[in-house]
Amino acid sequence: MINYDKLIFEISEAGRKSYSLPALDVEEKQVDKLIDSKFLREDELDFPEVSENQIIRHYTNLSMKNYSVDQGFYPLGSCTMKYNPKINELTSRLDGFANIHPLQDESTVQGALRLMYELDKDLCEITGMNKMSLNQAAGAHGEYTGILTIKAYHEARNDNKRNIIIVPDSAHGTNPATAAMAGCEIREVKSDENGLVDLDSLRKAVGEDTCALMLTNPNTVGLFDRNIKEITAIVHEAGGLCYYDGANANAILGHAKPGDMGFDVIHLNLHKTFSTPHGGGGPGSGPIGVKEFLAEFLPKPTVEKDGDTYRLDFDREHSLGRIKDFQGHFLTLVRAYTYILSLGSNGLRDVADMAVLNANYIQKMLEDDYNRVAKGVCMHECLFAGLKDDNDGEIRTLDVAKRLMDKGFHPPTVYFPLIVQEALMIEPTESETKETLDEFIKAMKEIAEEARENPEVLKNAPLSTPVRRPDETLAARKPVLKYQG
Ligand SMILES: *Cc1c(COP(=O)(O)O)cnc(C)c1O
Repeated sequence: MINYDKLIFEISEAGRKSYSLPALDVEEKQVDKLIDSKFLREDELDFPEVSENQIIRHYTNLSMKNYSVDQGFYPLGSCTMKYNPKINELTSRLDGFANIHPLQDESTVQGALRLMYELDKDLCEITGMNKMSLNQAAGAHGEYTGILTIKAYHEARNDNKRNIIIVPDSAHGTNPATAAMAGCEIREVKSDENGLVDLDSLRKAVGEDTCALMLTNPNTVGLFDRNIKEITAIVHEAGGLCYYDGANANAILGHAKPGDMGFDVIHLNLHKTFSTPHGGGGPGSGPIGVKEFLAEFLPKPTVEKDGDTYRLDFDREHSLGRIKDFQGHFLTLVRAYTYILSLGSNGLRDVADMAVLNANYIQKMLEDDYNRVAKGVCMHECLFAGLKDDNDGEIRTLDVAKRLMDKGFHPPTVYFPLIVQEALMIEPTESETKETLDEFIKAMKEIAEEARENPEVLKNAPLSTPVRRPDETLAARKPVLKYQG
């Protein structure tokens, strides 16, 4: 059997080519006459020499070792790995979007500027904010910019003692990391027994040193905090501002707006909620939105409209300045805009309805085999605290996740949020059929049965992947990125 796993260097044959170029019909210049010899390498470049067909098979086989939403169910909690409609790719590849240059004269890119202007307006409408900045490269970058905006506000009022960012103990890791990056200190508030913000702890945590509260709602436990207006009021009374981590916006589209909940600054993850393929590092986009009183601090440029003309605006007086080169990840904005327009406001509302329904279906169907965390309905993701019958503690959440790979599924998020033991966090998104959800439920139930009857197979899973159980800490801290043949 042919081994398609060989490296492209291993199948190289000297002199083999995958190109044919016309004969040179200009005078050949010697490179050593053009470039000083001390800058030239002495030995030949070690490039693989293969045929076109070998290259195609090499990359095709590599791509099939990956796992993607286009291939199968990807229920990674908190990441919103929804299907990315192909019309987004079509529009983002249109010549007038894909092949423009950021330094082109504004008169020649009016369509691109209009798209940004209208996306700003649409995202404001969706979130209940007054002004967006579209420049940030990802959610975490939006958080950082948002907290800098809040700091700039306090500083402009000479309110210089405010250095504490309050985060709940269920927060996504980027929230405390953002606070630290922005030079603030972190004060954690405990969650109550339902995983929601404990109001008494919050009252004790706020004061004259409160810069901001960072919160996501629905939270990382998958629950909507009904006390949200009281929570934001407590922070405002203490003189702090409220920051909304919008990574879970998929659950509330068309139903609730963070602006109405009392938040002053938000970010959205366009690559999650508004469908750009993500994972593996990008591209992302993390617009932030603010209430009117903070708009003067936003990064520049923003896009403004004078009469019928759109322009980049650099005049914002108290602006943080540039936070990203040019206008950020523009083609991700094109995808998000396409997604919003193709669904319309009713369609966006349907997204949230279906995402929540799907999560509740899974929560209900798995409750006999896994420890359900939410007492009542959940939002767009459901959370379990490991197996009900874990064979006397022998079978852990990690084993369940590894075994799912053998059954053809990407594992859910595991061991997050940190406040839940053996956490298993499933976010099906709106874009799956009931048949797929049923297949997944069946696989999860088979695993629960294996945990009781045949725990060894779970301990050794996955049995079907090229790499089985790497030491994950070592793999993250000391990655081996180079072939060691
Ligand atoms: C994904 C996520 C983030 C960070 O967003 P990135 O785009 O990955 O930087 C922040 N908070 C929550 C709750 C998230 O799920």
